[in-house]
Amino acid sequence: RNIDYRGRKIRISCLVDLRERKAHEERIRHLGQHDPLTGLPNRALFTETLASYVDRANRGWGCAVVLVDLDHFKDVNDLYGHPAGDEVIRETARRLTRELGPQDMAARLGGDEFAVIFANGHFEAQIEDFSRRLVEAFRKPFDTGQGERIKCGISVGGALCPDHAATLEELIGRADVALYHAKKSGRSTFRIYRKGMDELIEKRRALEADIERGL
Ligand code: GH3
Ligand code: MG
Repeated sequence: RNIDYRGRKIRISCLVDLRERKAHEERIRHLGQHDPLTGLPNRALFTETLASYVDRANRGWGCAVVLVDLDHFKDVNDLYGHPAGDEVIRETARRLTRELGPQDMAARLGGDEFAVIFANGHFEAQIEDFSRRLVEAFRKPFDTGQGERIKCGISVGGALCPDHAATLEELIGRADVALYHAKKSGRSTFRIYRKGMDELIEKRRALEADIERGL
């Protein structure tokens, strides 16, 4: 600002160093979008990113979602303790990340549930190969560094956009249905969504409800 000071015209300036505030803002933004245990993107960032891929897929550039859930992970916590369970979750993130292509994204959705956005998933065969590789990567036991070697496999469910679903919710729902089938097929395996899988689940749930009512 130009001002008069004791009869002289002078210019005063003020500089504010915002670097620290900007760094804090960046940190808050990062914390809001990432999981603190693994450093992977969280559900919020996963959903935001997947929305843009689904949009692109509906314009002809297919993508896929692969959901991953650790098998009998509660037993790991019960048998080896929560810190060992945390190490299994961290190592899961590392193993998933190792299998990714440059445009793919792995996220921790919560608990022992992870997801991968397979950016160039055009064909079922690609998702099958990818899912098979993932399941294989978890046949090796986890080493917690405490002398324990923990066996914990994964179940995987995948669905393609636009082949299996046109919207984000539908795509996640269908991958979840496929995951449910992988779990029901004995775990440590993968399933890709197929038409009719939903009805099988509905039938099974109705049967479960009937049995309960009957009892
Ligand atoms: P399933 O094969 O059916 O998936 O069986 P599961 O035992 O893995 O069951 P589920 O996926 O429902 O259990 C997830 C468990 O993960 C429940 C909770 O105790 C545990 N968990 C969730 N978040 C954390 C975490 O941050 N650290 C640890 N150590 N355990 C967690
Ligand atoms: Mg689980």
